[in-house]
Amino acid sequence: MANTDSIQHFIFDSTDIRGEIITLEEAYQQVRNNNMAAEDAMPERVLQLLGEFMAAVALLSGTLKFEGLLTLQARGDGAMPMIMAEASYQKGLRAAVQVNDAAAIEALESASLADLLGNQGLLAILIQPDKGERYQGIVPLVKTDLAECLEDYFAQSEQLGTRFWLAADEKRATGLMVQELPQQLADAKTNAEHWQTITALAETIKDEELLSLDQHTILYRLFNEEEVRLFDPVPVSFQCSCSEERCANTILSIGQSEAQAILSEQDLITMDCHFCGQKYQFGPQQVEKIFAEADKARH
Ligand SMILES: [Zn+2]
Repeated sequence: MANTDSIQHFIFDSTDIRGEIITLEEAYQQVRNNNMAAEDAMPERVLQLLGEFMAAVALLSGTLKFEGLLTLQARGDGAMPMIMAEASYQKGLRAAVQVNDAAAIEALESASLADLLGNQGLLAILIQPDKGERYQGIVPLVKTDLAECLEDYFAQSEQLGTRFWLAADEKRATGLMVQELPQQLADAKTNAEHWQTITALAETIKDEELLSLDQHTILYRLFNEEEVRLFDPVPVSFQCSCSEERCANTILSIGQSEAQAILSEQDLITMDCHFCGQKYQFGPQQVEKIFAEADKARH
């Protein structure tokens, strides 16, 4: 299958409307495998939601104009209290989920995101530039699925219309987005008419099509009567930013006496990355070295 694990950006000529389509296979499979290994019985529904979150955060990261991280996270008090995905400026993706009651999720047939998150669901978008200030937007989760929740987020936080279509199965996670841009090329009336036509056309996409067709075929089927200009596809991949150094920083942050207290009860300080499953272990000598080096750096 051509152009999987890539984002295709496109614009509609002579209008102020843009779009993106993403297909994830390898990166999605990696996240599925990591999460299946971490949990005995990770429900299929949850794995597919992870795929939707990955597709969505990658689409959102198309607007990142600086180097940094973009995180999409939902929280609630239900059987799945947290799910999130993160995209780097270089289009490295990772995702994680917390499941408290896998059996309850398995028992629910075709549960929505809102069902799994339970009450008081929140959707947050966090932008962390490498340089500069963090930005966080949070909206209460009132709609049922992720695409609708994101549309709701944009309706509340930006004036520009944004629509999403997301789908995932066992093999693939995919997403389509169209978005209004600030008026520049066309007048307001022309843009509004095009926006109505384009969203009505995009509305005809079926999950099965998103999950089985390649990006060009999908765009042709939807928009062959519009003037669509395609940009070069941008590759995306699974990428975890965990490292021994970051773990050492975590140990530093808990302090030497606390670290020693842990080591007096167990032989090693063990940290498992909940994104990629990598295990990090630190023995007494390594822990001592971490604090000694930090001490040296201070003087
Ligand atoms: Zn990791």
